[in-house]
Amino acid sequence: MRRYYIKTYGCQMNLADSRKLAEVLEEYGYRGVEREDDADIILVNTCVVRQHAEDRAAWYVTSLKGLKKPGVTIGLCGCMINEPGRDVKKDFPHVDFFIPPHNSEKLREFLASLPLKRPSPLCGEGEPRVRFSGRVVGEVFITIMTGCNNYCSYCVVPYVRGPETSRPMDEVLAEVEQAINEGNQNITLLGQNVNAYKYGLATLLNKIGRLFPLASGCIRFLTSHPKDMSDEIIEAVAALPNVVKEVVMPLQSGDDRVLKGMNRGYDLEFYRGRVARLRELVPEIRIISDIIVGFPGETEAEFERTLRAVEEFKFVVVNMFAYSSRPETAAAALPDQLPEEIVRERLQKLIAAVRASVKPR
Ligand code: SF4
Repeated sequence: MRRYYIKTYGCQMNLADSRKLAEVLEEYGYRGVEREDDADIILVNTCVVRQHAEDRAAWYVTSLKGLKKPGVTIGLCGCMINEPGRDVKKDFPHVDFFIPPHNSEKLREFLASLPLKRPSPLCGEGEPRVRFSGRVVGEVFITIMTGCNNYCSYCVVPYVRGPETSRPMDEVLAEVEQAINEGNQNITLLGQNVNAYKYGLATLLNKIGRLFPLASGCIRFLTSHPKDMSDEIIEAVAALPNVVKEVVMPLQSGDDRVLKGMNRGYDLEFYRGRVARLRELVPEIRIISDIIVGFPGETEAEFERTLRAVEEFKFVVVNMFAYSSRPETAAAALPDQLPEEIVRERLQKLIAAVRASVKPR
């Protein structure tokens, strides 16, 4: 039996990509294993959104040199493939093949080119299907759009994942139907900028909610850009009992000058308006936010405004990040990159403020 191992770094989008890769491998008769040294194919699905994640993934890929031997194939996938300024073939000469983000077809092409090509049924007679490790039975992540057109000045995603591309609604609905028929009760719709889904996220939610009512199941979606959180989407969240009353809507900063420098496309007042509308139509709504501290040039007074915003909005969860300079982004070229100790100190203050203010779920 041929075996695979997938190591995934990064967000839910990457996890969803890894699941697709696992499905392709299983089509070709591979079975998932828990350890890389038991595998014939090792895939590393990378993230470069933050320097720390990129460093960890690069270290791990380098460490796989020790496992390279005849019969063992290593594939590098995900955002690192398209990272501006990086030559993955030169950096990792022991890697056999490279797959850009959201491109499981490339893996299919690679497997088809192997001498032992044998597309096989998913399961042998009486053999339980080995699921991709990390998959929670009953839960499925469905990518409805990829890429991003927003070019937030600190973010590398538009460079590595490309422009926004939405999957046709019929295709998404068919995948949702299949997931439900397979017994999944929790469906998460994914997109870098999920509420910019070209065919209408509100329409999609309504179709899923009405066509496929889940007796005890639920539908989530993430991640939402505040500027695209339309009244229609909020109304769908309010009206549909199976849509989870929770949104991931990153604020990033509580200061208008910093938000402008980040190229976020909204100011604090606009964000406040979206929160107010959400809480008006869905009083039990839980709002999850991301915040970045230490954006280039952020003053102490601007940072204080972020602390006040955290206190005001009473998020249920705040994902907190120290600004991480990414090559080729507009923010990387800004003057006034802040010293690391100031950024770290602000992060600690933010953590304390969040602890004091988060509203328990
Ligand atoms: S909305 Fe901004 S932060 Fe989010 S993926 Fe797009 S560019 Fe990056």
